[in-house]
Amino acid sequence: MDTMQLAGNVERIRDRMAQAAIRAGRQPEDILLCAACKAQPSELVKVSAGLAIDVFGENRAQELSAHLNGGAFAGKPCHFIGSLQTNKVRQVVGKVGLIQSVDRARLLLAINTEAARQGLVQDILFEINLAGEESKAGAKPEDLKSLLEIAAPLHGVRVRGLMAIPPVTADGEKARPYFSALRELMVQARLWGLTGSHFDTLSMGMSGTYEAAILEGATLVRVGREIYGERR
Ligand SMILES: *Cc1c(COP(=O)(O)O)cnc(C)c1O
Repeated sequence: MDTMQLAGNVERIRDRMAQAAIRAGRQPEDILLCAACKAQPSELVKVSAGLAIDVFGENRAQELSAHLNGGAFAGKPCHFIGSLQTNKVRQVVGKVGLIQSVDRARLLLAINTEAARQGLVQDILFEINLAGEESKAGAKPEDLKSLLEIAAPLHGVRVRGLMAIPPVTADGEKARPYFSALRELMVQARLWGLTGSHFDTLSMGMSGTYEAAILEGATLVRVGREIYGERR
């Protein structure tokens, strides 16, 4: 992957994102492009940081540390999007603007404790497993209410919204029912009165499906392969 290819990829994705936004009657600038940079060398990540990427998405605590130490993000923000073990929380809290993958009470409480220790408030999303896939992370939709109840009184975390990774497909139309289900869940969550005015982030859509996600209300899409090429 050379710089020209990388630049072309990001430009094409931004064009498609903007077109999808306009089709949905939305403002293109209301949707963030998160570059899922797992398994990419720091040098390539650093080159991509000069392009129209809003935020980086990291899957592993160790890679996050390596990229941060190497200055790979060139000052751009980073989110954590991978599954997080409670014993790695210290390596992530306070280092990223948003932890998108909180899916259980124990992890939520561990993040809260670490954030309190550091004297900060950590923004998080709850990750929802919409299709009930055994192999995947994510809370059951029916567990969202209790997670919000647990989070509500905590001072170290602020719940910003929801994230989902629907069953793998390259066909946006197949993913669309999942995206609309996540949007509906967000509407529902607001009605429970357990969320604040900052509950505004809907993270969904990847390579091949981000346009469908934008049509269904995504405010942040996470794209890896369409930016960096197939992972080795
Ligand atoms: C890798 C990854 C993506 C991006 O997937 P691509 O198919 O490479 O676009 C998005 N979200 C998460 C959580 C990921 O791990």
